[in-house]
Amino acid sequence: MAQDNKDKRQRTIVIGAGPVGTLAALYAANRGHDVEVYELRSDLRDPQTVPLNFTKSINLALSERGINAIRQSGPSALLEKIFNDTIPMVGRMIHGESSTGDLYEKSQNYDVHGRAIYAVDRGGLNKALLDELDSMPNVKLVFNHKLTGADFQKRKAWFEISGNPGTDGRNREVEVDFDLMIGADGAHSAARYHLMKYTRMDYQQEYIDTLWCEFQIRPKELRPGEDPDARFRISPNHLHIWPGKDFMFIAIPSFDGSFTCTLFMPSENFVTLDATPSSVPSFFNKYFPGVTSLISPADLISSFTNNPHLPLISIKCNPYHFSDSIVIVGDAAHAMVPFYGQGMNAGLEDIRILFSFFDKYPSILPSDRSKALAEYSAFRKPDAHVINDLALHNYVEMRASTVSPTYALRKWLEEN
Ligand code: FAD
Repeated sequence: MAQDNKDKRQRTIVIGAGPVGTLAALYAANRGHDVEVYELRSDLRDPQTVPLNFTKSINLALSERGINAIRQSGPSALLEKIFNDTIPMVGRMIHGESSTGDLYEKSQNYDVHGRAIYAVDRGGLNKALLDELDSMPNVKLVFNHKLTGADFQKRKAWFEISGNPGTDGRNREVEVDFDLMIGADGAHSAARYHLMKYTRMDYQQEYIDTLWCEFQIRPKELRPGEDPDARFRISPNHLHIWPGKDFMFIAIPSFDGSFTCTLFMPSENFVTLDATPSSVPSFFNKYFPGVTSLISPADLISSFTNNPHLPLISIKCNPYHFSDSIVIVGDAAHAMVPFYGQGMNAGLEDIRILFSFFDKYPSILPSDRSKALAEYSAFRKPDAHVINDLALHNYVEMRASTVSPTYALRKWLEEN
């Protein structure tokens, strides 16, 4: 009898255990689905796992869009747990040098009511979501499983299991049945690739001519009795920007007093600096005044040389689903450039909205699920496409308009 009841539950498989996939699993589990999460990598809570640091920025800006999606995930202390490790950023701090050579910093608040966005450690947020899922009896986390194929008519998926080869030395494969697949496997999504074979998907991707590289401002060592906040070398409550017209350097605070910094710059400038890494500190002195007093020249050179120079992709597609069996969310559906700080936030919001359509059609009948998915795709497309566009436009805003309000207008007039 118990088995009969179990068979009536919806089997939802989630591809990808990033922030969006884990939140999707939580929403599904709280609605009583039998949930399995398949992740390509090993468990990021395992100290042996190679951290994601250099495929995704270490810390991110979490905004109300994402916070609300976590808040509505169900009855748990998850949001509180995540918030404990965040730092509010009330505005951006613009750094520059006056015509007389004096360094200045100018705070620009995000909100007249003082509301903030929050610096959050990407790994910490992801771990909190995984811990939450681990505590749920109807969730199974399956690591080292890479989605390699899917049949969305027969509702079957195939995974390659890494690290456990068969006697022929090749990785083994496993077949999994499902009612619903939620593809949250990032910008290079395999779920999206297979979905394309089943639906007339419009698809557009663009690599912008900007690369990014990560740096770090180390925390200050505290003297005995010193105020713990003194560990931050610059204001912890701001997102710091060194605008440079064609380049930009930003810094986001971390709980330990350090700042994760990102250099955004056209690829040709990376090529030039690559040829003479010793000129990195003088480049910073010229374009990002004050940074060399926060990061030593040796650290600047070693971060520039050792950390990867990574591309930025922008993806738009539609629809996001096929029939009643698959939907893609997060970066898999709408990877965007990071200048609006909304990629993850928008992905988390996808989940809140997706499940509001499942709640509108709460039965587990495939016909209801297909209505929910079709309405979700139609509803979500315009917003997702607009956020992608805003993210692209905000690059001009952040690197130039923060110092010259007319710059963006001039640039727009030149380009149009
Ligand atoms: P991902 O984080 O990419 O997770 C996908 C998961 O799927 C991964 O764990 C991957 O291993 C797994 N996977 C991939 N392929 C397979 C497969 N075939 N089978 C099984 N598993 C698979 N967003 C913000 O909201 N705020 C910010 O401030 C911000 N800053 C950013 C700064 C930078 C420099 C960059 C590059 C991005 C930034 N973003 C920011 C965007 C944010 O990182 C992404 O939008 C977010 O990580 C997307 O989450 P996701 O879960 O959809 O995908």
